[in-house]
Amino acid sequence: MERPIAFTPLLGINLKDLEQVFKVAGFEAYDPSRLLVHYYRQRNPEIDLIEVYPKKLRSYLKEKFHTQSLQPLISESSIDGTNKWLFKSVDGNPFETAWIPDQNRQTVCISTQSGCKFGCKFCMTGSLGFKSHLSVFEVLSQVVSIGKSFSHVVFMGMGEPLDNFEVLSRTLEILTAPWGYSLAARNITVSTVGVLPALERLGMEHTCNIAISLHSPFAEQRAEIIPSEKRYPLRDIIRTLEKIPFRRKRRLSLEYLLMKDFNDRYEHAAALGALIKHLPAHINIIPYNFIPGKPYRAPDPQDAENFRQVLNSYGLRATIRKSRGYDISAACGMMAGRTTLSHELLNKPVLKF
Ligand code: SF4
Repeated sequence: MERPIAFTPLLGINLKDLEQVFKVAGFEAYDPSRLLVHYYRQRNPEIDLIEVYPKKLRSYLKEKFHTQSLQPLISESSIDGTNKWLFKSVDGNPFETAWIPDQNRQTVCISTQSGCKFGCKFCMTGSLGFKSHLSVFEVLSQVVSIGKSFSHVVFMGMGEPLDNFEVLSRTLEILTAPWGYSLAARNITVSTVGVLPALERLGMEHTCNIAISLHSPFAEQRAEIIPSEKRYPLRDIIRTLEKIPFRRKRRLSLEYLLMKDFNDRYEHAAALGALIKHLPAHINIIPYNFIPGKPYRAPDPQDAENFRQVLNSYGLRATIRKSRGYDISAACGMMAGRTTLSHELLNKPVLKF
């Protein structure tokens, strides 16, 4: 029987909040970071084991917080080793998480929304429409509940992370803080179509990597597939990127989904090279994955290679990226949850004690 969430999840609490909790309850003599290190970094949900806290404080914390996380409803495995999980948010909306092992790195690809309101034409999540923002608890549950170790986190699952900026910002804080998961910011990438002014806040307030979904150097064509181009034009996104400090291994990636006979011609590569050659960027050329119901097609491998060489001629570093998890719809642009959760899934317990 699922226990109701009657009190606050500890997952999602930061040091500032916890200091306030200790102060209000009269426990300011004790160090709140002990609890966070124990719970986040040491992955230990047993508050009773923090022996440096008196029994009264431990009892108070156990009444105030639960240490559960959301559990996935379903998991799938790809033949290439990629795994994907379906979660249900506290208010019943679906979202997905992928885990991609690759030699020495294991990457968790997480969602920040159920669905998305940006409606990019090539993206399955966009076709789903917007359902809800995820909370910090729901976003971090994806990292801790899949039972996999990870070295990297990418915000490339369902949703536009900058459209849920406060949640993104706190999640980044907890992932990187010494009292949190202590992950290096250079091992975290936030991918966005470019939401302004949130992009500037991300660039200035955090030091994680940034990936911009670019997909065409021509405003009119980009607006055809990324409707937000009209509100947040690429030229303004580039001006914002020019202000952001990319230092000490912090990486700027420009993602270019290459689609046959749409954006894979010499003139696209040349215009792109001219537009961004002054940026400290790495270009990821991602051959489009055919998605049933979408009008776009995968490019010819030789066209992808020609595209890369034109970018190189502008002095730019460009890589053709292999897609992973295509057979389980975990590849780029394919995450869409299951639009309608079955009665059985809707009633499945989702909390772990
Ligand atoms: S590409 Fe990103 S912003 Fe666009 S619809 Fe998909 S999830 Fe939303």
